Amino acid sequence: MKELKVETSTIKSVRFEKPYFYWQVEGDTKDGPFCQKCFEYEGKFSRLTVCHDGNDGYWHCGVCEETYRPKDHTSNAS
Ligand SMILES: [Zn+2]
Repeated sequence: MKELKVETSTIKSVRFEKPYFYWQVEGDTKDGPFCQKCFEYEGKFSRLTVCHDGNDGYWHCGVCEETYRPKDHTSNAS
């Protein structure tokens, strides 16, 4: 595992939840999710917004234009 270097003076803690989201956690309050790509490449937190495409919901990053679809990560389980 690669150690993440995070500025802890402004962020209490950062938690990565599979399959692809970062959250800021402070006590029992969870904020996010934030874009994995922006965080890992740019070191910045870009809040994801939920979008809907027909019946499917997905997450979109307005900064890098990345989209995250849960079904992309569950279809190859077997
Ligand atoms: Zn992004």
